[in-house]
Amino acid sequence: MLLDHLSQRLRERDAAALRRHRRTVQTPCAPRQRVQGPRGPAREMLAFCSNDYLGLAAHPQLAEALAEGAHCFGVGSGASHLISGHSQAHAALERMLGDWLAPCIPQARALTFCTGYMANLALLTSLADADAAIYADKLNHASLIDAALLARAPMQRYAHGRLDVLVRWLEDSAAPIKLIVTDAVFSMDGDLADLPALLALAERHDAWLVVDDAHGFGVLGEGGRGTLAHFGLCSERFVYMGTLGKAIGAAGAFVAAHPVVIDWLVQSARTYVYTTATPPALAHAVRASLGLVGGPQGDRRRRRLGRLVRQLRCRLGALIDAHPRLGWRLPASATAIQPLIVGSNETALQLAAALEAEGLWVPAIRPPTVPAGAARLRITLSAEHTPQDVRRLVDALARAARRL
Ligand SMILES: *Cc1c(COP(=O)(O)O)cnc(C)c1O
Repeated sequence: MLLDHLSQRLRERDAAALRRHRRTVQTPCAPRQRVQGPRGPAREMLAFCSNDYLGLAAHPQLAEALAEGAHCFGVGSGASHLISGHSQAHAALERMLGDWLAPCIPQARALTFCTGYMANLALLTSLADADAAIYADKLNHASLIDAALLARAPMQRYAHGRLDVLVRWLEDSAAPIKLIVTDAVFSMDGDLADLPALLALAERHDAWLVVDDAHGFGVLGEGGRGTLAHFGLCSERFVYMGTLGKAIGAAGAFVAAHPVVIDWLVQSARTYVYTTATPPALAHAVRASLGLVGGPQGDRRRRRLGRLVRQLRCRLGALIDAHPRLGWRLPASATAIQPLIVGSNETALQLAAALEAEGLWVPAIRPPTVPAGAARLRITLSAEHTPQDVRRLVDALARAARRL
């Protein structure tokens, strides 16, 4: 009976072409991966789906640092941070991250989390009590939406980028604690939040500005310091969340903020207090990665990524102009996230299938992840792609476009 209920719901997903499937990957994260076919044998695919923007996830120096960390610190941390799981490897990583963000947040300190999802839950539940008000961009990441629900504070979501709406809400607000919450780089569109304008609003209305920089940390700003550095902003109103599983190529996340905020999180954040600390070896590997990301190697990778982004946009722009009847759109994005919006779910799936037949792996993103009618191919680039890879992708899309 209970199983019948779930089976019925799964069949509904199938009928709406919304059933999701996992692919089993047999090789490390890289543009070229051996992937188990849905039915057939494994094959090599050229992938444009990962968030490994700098191509560091499988870097030998990171693997070495992880092994070295395991030799020094063992595998498990054994307990939560507040019991006995807080190792000197975590402490050293937190100092390093605090220093990284210090130009953007006066006296910045950092606190590491197991995942970005957990860090976001921590932020909103700790900063917002029931009489707080949360103001969020409609396109924020799902973890920020879940976090606001868990915080039990009222959340108002403004249409993407509509700061004129936000201003009105802030002016009318009587809430003693206000939080403006935004992705810095929007994960399905690749565009940047107007952080200078948001900071001005936060200052005028005495609000926190919570910034989720999952897709900017390591990629944007001098030395990969992230989107706050990209805009040259500095304020103690920032409560900054960066992830370590995307451009940094490892796993986990951190919050950087004024020391008082960090002290309060340590006391109150349930996703910090009631979970086992990540393996210290992982913290050790992340430090090695930050060393690469912040140095000349990181600069070279960011420059290479920038050239690939410009090449892809130029060629996709030409392709769209050649087929106006299709109504495809490539919204402005200077980041590694390049959304090719094609409209219907069916078209997005058809295109993804056509690319897959040519050995190209690009995910079709459909509602509810994106708004209805805005189904897309979410193309992500990595510094490990080559200009030939980009050409192969656009040529395959051009063939598919002619057949539509
Ligand atoms: C990936 C992502 C997260 C979650 O981070 P994880 O470390 O993967 O849990 C949070 N916010 C945004 C915008 C993301 O893209």
